[in-house]
Amino acid sequence: MNAPMNRRQFFRICAAGIGSSSLAVMGLAPSVAHAEMRAYKLDRATETRNTCAYCSVGCGILMYSTGDKAKNVKAEVFHIEGDPDHPVNRGTLCPKGAGILDMLRSPSRLKHPQVRRPGSDKWENIEWHQAIDEIAHLMKADRDANFISKNADGQLVNRWLSTGMLCASAGSTETGFLTQKIVRSLGMIAIDNQARV
Ligand code: SF4
Repeated sequence: MNAPMNRRQFFRICAAGIGSSSLAVMGLAPSVAHAEMRAYKLDRATETRNTCAYCSVGCGILMYSTGDKAKNVKAEVFHIEGDPDHPVNRGTLCPKGAGILDMLRSPSRLKHPQVRRPGSDKWENIEWHQAIDEIAHLMKADRDANFISKNADGQLVNRWLSTGMLCASAGSTETGFLTQKIVRSLGMIAIDNQARV
């Protein structure tokens, strides 16, 4: 049963009500609580697996880009992290790998094969198919001219000493295996890898 309110109690309740509504008018009321999760930033991103290009460890990375790979959508990578399913790094990245987004966005990053023609002092951008064709023709011409099948003692050596190959470290084990098979089958001996530098 409610106890009867005397005059003094009545005025106290009125004063409290006026005070709290004044605070609300002055913006001191607590904000409305939203019962919703913050949007996950990788929602609707396209995930692409790749290999960190910095060193020979070859850590697996996941690249997240905008768009859904449709032809009329310009994709832009906005987040990169270690691939937890990759056997080399299991989701971890060193500081260089963790900052690879900066390399990707660097204005000085090469995006085309380049060639410096004989006598020129400038590098020229060319297309990939053109680069592969030109390299193949130059390799064949040099091998035809300089291949050594026998040494001075008449022993079979099958060497090609006038061309070398320097490979990048970002290739997979399978790429490295195929590279070795192809260039050694041509007789090339000077083969090295960026992983050693
Ligand atoms: S994340 Fe670091 S250790 Fe792994 S490949 Fe890249 S540079 Fe090398």
